[in-house]
Amino acid sequence: MKIIKDCQIIKPGIIREILLEKQKMLNPPQGCITIQVGASGICGTDLHIFLGEYIGDYPIIPGHEFSGDVVSIGDKVERFKVGDRVAVEPNLSCGICDTCLHNRQHFCENWQAIGVTMPGGMATHVMVPQQAAFTIGDLSFEEAAFMEPLSCVIHGVGLIEFLLGAHILLVGTGPIGMLLLRTLKNMGSAKLDIVEINENRRNFAAKEGLGQVFSDFSQVKKEYYDIVVDATGAISVIEQCIAFVRPAGKILFFGVPPKGKVMTIEPFQLFRKELTILSSYTSLRNSKQAIDLISTGRIVVKDLISHRLLLNELKDGFHLLLDKKEPAMKVMIFP
Ligand SMILES: [Zn+2]
Ligand SMILES: [Zn+2]
Repeated sequence: MKIIKDCQIIKPGIIREILLEKQKMLNPPQGCITIQVGASGICGTDLHIFLGEYIGDYPIIPGHEFSGDVVSIGDKVERFKVGDRVAVEPNLSCGICDTCLHNRQHFCENWQAIGVTMPGGMATHVMVPQQAAFTIGDLSFEEAAFMEPLSCVIHGVGLIEFLLGAHILLVGTGPIGMLLLRTLKNMGSAKLDIVEINENRRNFAAKEGLGQVFSDFSQVKKEYYDIVVDATGAISVIEQCIAFVRPAGKILFFGVPPKGKVMTIEPFQLFRKELTILSSYTSLRNSKQAIDLISTGRIVVKDLISHRLLLNELKDGFHLLLDKKEPAMKVMIFP
């Protein structure tokens, strides 16, 4: 039996300080590993951070959806060896604060996140604590880079007490909307209709076929859906969702809305229809589920990549998604 001598818990903020200090030397501190990044996806959250609408502050190396090879390990790293292939769960929690002890680690009072408050995956190398890394087997790096967004989707969908054979309306089929669509399908929905204003995205989603595909709300049947899921976060869109959910139905607000903006809803409608409004924030230990679903092909992710760019083209990747001049889904960066 092994006796653990120094059972010291290091808070994420302290890990952050140590890693910021050590980052340049590729010499990971105790309990940490250095990953040579294989693939790193640009996420909507990166755009929010880029535009100053989210929690993280520049200067920071962005990238929280990534995978790669372990190239160096610090002392007391037991889970990994050099050469292991891993993907990263960016949220770090302390495990000992009141919130963590209430099993809400995604709201840890000492929360830090790789690529948000700590150096992230848009780099050739990144150091992370070993608890942030997950083995990916022989999954390709670009597929494994979907572990984090799929974890968020699994968490969100898990919040809906799912009705087998449910009629669902999904609004928005960008990369995260497509992950939602494929996850909702797996949950056993009978009808899955889609609203998407972007023609390319609409045509792409239409191929999944579990129902009708609409370009706006005008043709969508009111009070018809058991569950309405918003993947846009657009205020004007989420305000309208209530009209389409049937009495005693549920709405999941999944898309990230702009900070500081307000929406108008009629509380009487909530009362009269006995609606449940759910919201979802990041994930809660869903990484293993995500890797398993991707590895087994239950959730396909590869076809969601529309652009593959090099690290020095990162800014072009941001603009591809912000300027919307050409059709884009997931933009994957290869450092
Ligand atoms: Zn993300
Ligand atoms: Zn905590």
